[in-house]
Amino acid sequence: GGDMPVVVSMLNSYSGWAAAMAGFTLRNDLLIITGALVGSSGAYLSYIMCRAMNRSFVSVILGGFGDAPVADSGVAGEHREVSTSEVAKLLTEARSVVIAPGYGMAVAQAQYPVAELTARLREQGVNVRFAIHPVAGRLPGHMNVLLAEAKVPYDIVEEMDEINGDFAETDVVLVVGANDTVNPAAQEPGSPIAGMPVLHVWEARSVVVFKRSMGNAGYAGLVNPLFFKENTQMLLGDAKDSVEKIIAEL
Ligand code: NDP
Repeated sequence: GGDMPVVVSMLNSYSGWAAAMAGFTLRNDLLIITGALVGSSGAYLSYIMCRAMNRSFVSVILGGFGDAPVADSGVAGEHREVSTSEVAKLLTEARSVVIAPGYGMAVAQAQYPVAELTARLREQGVNVRFAIHPVAGRLPGHMNVLLAEAKVPYDIVEEMDEINGDFAETDVVLVVGANDTVNPAAQEPGSPIAGMPVLHVWEARSVVVFKRSMGNAGYAGLVNPLFFKENTQMLLGDAKDSVEKIIAEL
């Protein structure tokens, strides 16, 4: 669940300390120095990520063993599907739009059409911003790198804490290939991701989720109650294709 990115980062740190130890046994100064650099920078990153994910450093190292998360939060319900032309219409009527990207944007390589869509909407006077979760994607900073690559202006890329209070005043949220990072189950005690901070996208007037199929879960393997909320519509298909079709409709 929410511990996984921190665990990955800690394992990275351990590899550095292991290299430093090997340096001591082999009496190799370079190995000691590089190992210590990798180990300490990995430990520092793990510490920052623990804070971002509302986890304690010690409990991530010790916790989790023998306590496998339940892969279903028991949510059942009807989802509503939407077409690209309906999403285009929704966007032309919106004054503020927030895009919450996730791992699916990276898989689809949708950052370029997403950047183009952003530029189009901004030309029409729509306030477009990006909401970046600290562990969206599969690497720390993954989304920031993709958006920078597609030349999205930095000043509209906001961190989770900066933007979470603004969803209630947002007309449309486009969830482009994100799942766990927008899962409201994190607010329920007993959920495997309980306590993990998430983007409160469901507070917006309308939410459109880009996803290939209803059958697949996110990284943590959980059902996402967001998909069954009244103000959520599912746009099924590859995110790149969907965004390109929306641009054509616009
Ligand atoms: P998730 O991995 O939870 O979900 C990805 C979503 O993208 C799914 O809904 C998937 O649905 C959709 N998707 C995949 N491919 C496409 C596509 N081509 N077009 C459209 N949609 C697509 O993403 P998040 O970014 O929200 O969360 C990241 C997760 O990874 C967290 O659980 C985090 O803890 C974990 N993690 C993060 C690390 C980090 O450092 N950032 C490191 C290790 C783990 P479908 O398959 O139906 O299309």
